[in-house]
Amino acid sequence: MKIGLIGLGIMGKPMAKNMLKAGYDLTVSDLNKANVDEVVAAGAKAASNKEIGETCDVVMTMLPNSPHVKSVMLGENGVASFMKPGSVFIDMSSINPVASKEIAAALAEKNIEMLDAPVSGGEPKAIDGTLSFMVGGKQEVFDAHKAILETMGASVVRCGDVGAGNTTKLANQIIVACNIQALAEALTLAQKAGVDPQLVFEAIKGGLAGSTVMNAKAPMMIAGNDKPGFKIDLHIKDLNNALDCAHSVGAPVPMTAEVQEILQWMHNHEGGQKDHSAIAQYYEYLTGIQIGR
Ligand code: NAD
Repeated sequence: MKIGLIGLGIMGKPMAKNMLKAGYDLTVSDLNKANVDEVVAAGAKAASNKEIGETCDVVMTMLPNSPHVKSVMLGENGVASFMKPGSVFIDMSSINPVASKEIAAALAEKNIEMLDAPVSGGEPKAIDGTLSFMVGGKQEVFDAHKAILETMGASVVRCGDVGAGNTTKLANQIIVACNIQALAEALTLAQKAGVDPQLVFEAIKGGLAGSTVMNAKAPMMIAGNDKPGFKIDLHIKDLNNALDCAHSVGAPVPMTAEVQEILQWMHNHEGGQKDHSAIAQYYEYLTGIQIGR
């Protein structure tokens, strides 16, 4: 089986290397030549998007957002126009599920099946091959391609038809953002009221309020460490998709709207490239404290 991967950024590069380690025949492309060279050095072939469409049985993408995936696949000289009937497209980018469904519908006219398969886990888990995949698409297409995703992920779960993968990812991103905001608000309150936020963290992390988000982000907030991790600008992109999707299906998401405004404030104050836990800096601005310091 010949696989093509378009998009070799922070995530796509290590994911490509894990497919190569598993022995897949992989052809890659990216606008950034240095990224392509690095993956070619690990055993991949380099080709144009057109050649990938013409020669690969499975075309995968790991691109920033919906407009990138739409333009690469369906734009003028898009990959889809070169793909063979019976081939499969797997999009691993985090995009708007409405766009996933539109792309799948356009591909169906050419007899090309699609899975939307976004991931959570970030660069460390992309390197370790322990990402979590949330997948949308037909059961039989999922079953036939699950093994490819398992070379990059520790968990590969089908959530429903096309669009269900990215809908699940939006749910994930809403829960993470709102958790980070609640944590920042609570630690700020504790410190303003005279209690050491480190002791608050230690006292509550084993109880009902404890979470993976708390364990990862409380120490960063307390140390004033805003090195990304997951950048605020990417979270803004995901929550914009969540708001778009929510409006189109008629599901009010007031908490998402509020945390999105705080992330936007951070972006406007040179925080777009900081870790999303830097939401704490908004609360520090409101109160004049520095959490944990
Ligand atoms: P990135 O910006 O590092 O990489 C995107 C790559 O796509 C770049 O190398 C860019 O050159 C390439 N690209 C853009 N347009 C192209 C085109 N027309 N043709 C070929 N290549 C093109 O982004 P990333 O961090 O790898 O994220 C990719 C996706 O994964 C995003 O949707 C993101 O939200 C999601 N994601 C990221 C993380 C993370 O921690 N970084 C975690 C989970 C999910």
